[in-house]
Amino acid sequence: MATVEVAREAGACYGVERALEMTEDALKDGASRVRTLGPLIHNPRVVASLAERGAAVVEDPRDAAGCTLVLRTHGVTPAEEAEARELCSSVVDATCPFVKKVHRAAEQLSAEGYRVVIVGEAGHPEVTATLAHAPGAVVVGTAEEALALPHARKTGVVVQTTQSAARLAEVVSALLSRTEELRVVNTICEATSGHQGACAELAARADVMVVIGGRNSANTTRLAEIAAAACPRTHHIEGADELDSSWFAGAGLVGVTAGASTPASQIRAVVAAIKSMMGE
Ligand code: SF4
Repeated sequence: MATVEVAREAGACYGVERALEMTEDALKDGASRVRTLGPLIHNPRVVASLAERGAAVVEDPRDAAGCTLVLRTHGVTPAEEAEARELCSSVVDATCPFVKKVHRAAEQLSAEGYRVVIVGEAGHPEVTATLAHAPGAVVVGTAEEALALPHARKTGVVVQTTQSAARLAEVVSALLSRTEELRVVNTICEATSGHQGACAELAARADVMVVIGGRNSANTTRLAEIAAAACPRTHHIEGADELDSSWFAGAGLVGVTAGASTPASQIRAVVAAIKSMMGE
């Protein structure tokens, strides 16, 4: 008998739930129009639903003058925050506290004279915001990129919250040859490591894995990579309408996991759809 099992840790994390609650409260308050600076979370469906209900996305604080502006979960640059506080009627800071920890660590290492290395994905909004907190920092995504850095006396490392521990270990090991002193602040958040561990454990037993979350979501993409490494029949989807019944042919166990921006309702909808496709 075929079964569907959800990973023991999956879906919306503390930072995402907190940001959604803060935005809902701003919408309920109704004192002024609500805008979010960049997509609040990396889940296009949730972001579209917020926009329909009045919390549209702006990319620049100048487009939210006189509004309540919610700062995205991934954090913003100090310049954007200063501009928002000057131009908007109020600012709701929904930056995840774990992302703030990365900003503080980068600032401190920079103030102490370390060359700051951010292990992460260049161009991701969280990394862009962290870079702005430690001007002169460099972003490194792979061990090869770390080996290409010039030698420095002191190097301090912080990590994008959604990176894998394996990636961090590779980069740190490569950096040992590029510096005399190496200090590592492991800022991978607990939700990320918990989701990744549970995903790997389930993928090792599953015949098919379905990973739910935005294609623009760094943590979901990492989950899909981890699942695919153990289970070649892995599919990354954003919602139940993308499922294809042919994926489940002959499968005994279908594993389901979801990125940190995926609400429980989306997970339930996908599980129900898979069960119906498998004739359960
Ligand atoms: Fe915060 Fe971690 Fe969730 Fe990112 S994944 S929003 S850092 S709790």
